Amino acid sequence: MTAKILDGKKLASEIKADVRERTERLKERGVTPGLAVVLVGEDPASKVYVGQKEKGCSDAGFASFLHRLPETTTQGELLALIERLNSDRTVHGILVQLPLPRHIDSDAVLSAIRPEKDVDGFHPVNIGRLVSGLPSCEPCTPKGIMRLLKSAEIPLSGKEAVIIGRSNIVGKPVAMMLLAESATVTICHSRTEELAAHARRADILIAAVGKPRFVTGDMVKEGAVVVDVGINRLEEGLVGDVDYEAAAERASWITPVPGGVGPMTIAMLLENTLEQAEKAAPAAR
Ligand code: NDP
Repeated sequence: MTAKILDGKKLASEIKADVRERTERLKERGVTPGLAVVLVGEDPASKVYVGQKEKGCSDAGFASFLHRLPETTTQGELLALIERLNSDRTVHGILVQLPLPRHIDSDAVLSAIRPEKDVDGFHPVNIGRLVSGLPSCEPCTPKGIMRLLKSAEIPLSGKEAVIIGRSNIVGKPVAMMLLAESATVTICHSRTEELAAHARRADILIAAVGKPRFVTGDMVKEGAVVVDVGINRLEEGLVGDVDYEAAAERASWITPVPGGVGPMTIAMLLENTLEQAEKAAPAAR
């Protein structure tokens, strides 16, 4: 079998076109969606992600407010900035780029963001709502993965979904979303025994490990859907967590890197911010 491509770049550009159109309509009602992005320190990958988010905002017609703070910023200073952004009515979404420097408690900072401005979906209230099946601001990467699966009408109910990686930003929330779609979900991590055997059972295999080509072809069941979340910067360029060529020979669908999950993450961030701005807008008469 040769896999069909789950084209995140194409789907993301359709979603971004829809966001742009809705933004125009919202502006006619006097509201411009505003996203505040907070970057602390000089992490090179973070700078790239922030640049992509800023470009996404400007393409969509949003106002974006970039706050670049030095590595030496104290937790108190950062919390004071979050407090100001929480009460700023031109800001509908607040994104604190992770990782933060080690002297800052990320959990304290993420919890300080008002849940309705938490467009990254990392606030404990939003995570709790997600787990409980209540409407919430959903984390962007898992939401983007689900949108990709749905766009290809991939059946989820009753299927075996295996996720490699248990981070708060990818592994755990995507597990909850797949469970909500009635998949049978297994989460693997660095202590999992017989990981390859788990992976080989998967109808839907999601790799969010952060290790280049971690998932080899023999870990993929014939006909499985493979979602590669990994972004690994090697000399040869960007590489995912899946050995793409080998996996594509066995899978029915696969996401490429780049052009798979990455563009969906940005599209979902824009959509989350727009939705918060729409909620904050006065009702149309
Ligand atoms: P984390 O480092 O937070 O989590 C990695 C997970 O992989 C952990 O749960 C870890 O297990 C597990 N793991 C590590 N080594 C092994 C191993 N040998 N066997 C099994 N499990 C292992 O990463 P993230 O979830 O933040 O990101 C994962 C990847 O996805 C990265 O490459 C990141 O760059 C990328 N990413 C891409 C995004 C996109 O938009 N495309 C967005 C976010 C992330 P344990 O918990 O036991 O340590």
